[in-house]
Amino acid sequence: MSPPEPRAIPFGRPIIGQPELDAVAEVLRGGMLVHGPRTKAFEAGFAAFTGSANAVSVASCTAGMHLVYYALGLGPGDEVIVPAQTHVATAHAVALTGATPVFVDAEADTGNIDLDALPAAVTDRTRAIAVVHFLGYPVRMDRVRAIADPRGLFVMEDAALAVGTQYAGAHAGTLGDAGAFSFYPVKHLTTAEGGMVLVRDGSLAERLRRLRAFGLDQTVDRRPEPGIYDVIELGFNYRMNEIEAAIGGAQLARMPGVLEQRRKNYDALASALTGLDAITILPERAGAREPDCVNSCYCLSVVLDDTLATRRREVVRQLKARGIGTSVYYPCPVPLMTYYRDRFGATAGQFPVASWISACSISLPVGAHLTEDDMAHVAAPVRDVLAEAL
Ligand SMILES: *Cc1c(COP(=O)(O)O)cnc(C)c1O
Repeated sequence: MSPPEPRAIPFGRPIIGQPELDAVAEVLRGGMLVHGPRTKAFEAGFAAFTGSANAVSVASCTAGMHLVYYALGLGPGDEVIVPAQTHVATAHAVALTGATPVFVDAEADTGNIDLDALPAAVTDRTRAIAVVHFLGYPVRMDRVRAIADPRGLFVMEDAALAVGTQYAGAHAGTLGDAGAFSFYPVKHLTTAEGGMVLVRDGSLAERLRRLRAFGLDQTVDRRPEPGIYDVIELGFNYRMNEIEAAIGGAQLARMPGVLEQRRKNYDALASALTGLDAITILPERAGAREPDCVNSCYCLSVVLDDTLATRRREVVRQLKARGIGTSVYYPCPVPLMTYYRDRFGATAGQFPVASWISACSISLPVGAHLTEDDMAHVAAPVRDVLAEAL
C-alpha cells in the first residue's frame, strides 16, 4: 500500500457556514447589537443543552471565572486551589481578585488535577477549588465534591474545553457550583470571543447578570423610564454582544454533529497510533472507555518518551513540513510561568507531572473540520516522523 498523499491538516479551524453568516447579517441589519433577544436565546439554548438551570453569557471564559470569584467577594488573604497544568486564565481569574492561587500538580493518566494531592493543599484560608477538564476529559467531580462540601468550599469548573464533556451522566459545568466555558475560535463552539457561566444558585446568576453590566439596578429592557437607572454595586462590562450570541446560537445547533465527528476522529487517530511504544496517549484511560466519563475530544495529546521528547521541536517541525498542524497543551505549568514564578517562587521540580506533560507532549488535531479519512493522513506522518527521530 502506498503512503497517503500529504494534505494540509490545520490543528483547529472554526466551522462557520451559512447559518452563522445569516445570523450575523440579521443582527447587523436589525441594529440591536447588545441587550437583545439573541443573547437571551443563546443562554436558554446553552442551559438546555447542558441541563443547567442558569446560564449567564459573558465576554470570555476568563471574564466569567473572574466575575464569579468577584461575586464571591474573594480578595487578599483568600486562597483558591488551582491545577498547575492549565491555561493561565484559570489562575489569572483568581489572582485578579487579589486572592492567591495555590497550585496542585496533575495526575499522570489524565492530566487532570491530582485529587489525591488536593486535600493537602487546603488551608484555613481556602475558599474555593478550581478544576479543569483537561482537554475535555472529565474530572471525577464526586471526588471533588467529597473534598469541598465538608469544608464549605466553592467548586469552580473551568469547562473551557468541555462542551460535550460528561461525568456520571451530567454535563461538565453543572457538577460544581459554577462552570465556565470558552467560545474562542478553536474551541468546540465559537462566538469569536465569548463565554458562558453555568451556576447552580439562581440568586448568584442574578448577581452575575448585574455585575457583568456595571452593577446597574435594572437591565435595559426592565427600566420603567428609558435612560434612568441606579448603580447599586461596583461591576464590569463583561457582556456578550448580539453578534457573538447570534453566532453562538447557530454553532449550538451544530454541536451534536460536531461532537460526533470529534469522537470519530479521536477514535480513528487513537487506533491508527496504537502499538507505538514511544508515545503515551493522554488521557490514557480514555482508551479504556470508562463508562461514566465522556471525553469532548478537544485534541489527541501524545506524550513522547524521554528520548523523543528531547527532539520535540524537530518532530513538530517535520510534521509541519508534512502539512500537519499541532499544538502543545499547555506549554509550561502555570506556577512556573515567569509572572507566577516571580510572585510565588515555585521551583522546577515541584510539579513533576505537569512539567512532564508540558515538556513532552504534542497535541494532534481531531477537530470537526477534519474527517476520519484525514486521520490516516495524520497518523502516517506521525509514525514516519517518530521513527526517523528515534
Ligand atoms: C481557552 C481556555 C481558557 C480561556 O478562555 P477565554 O474564553 O479565551 O477567556 C480558560 N481555560 C482553559 C482551560 C482554556 O483552554
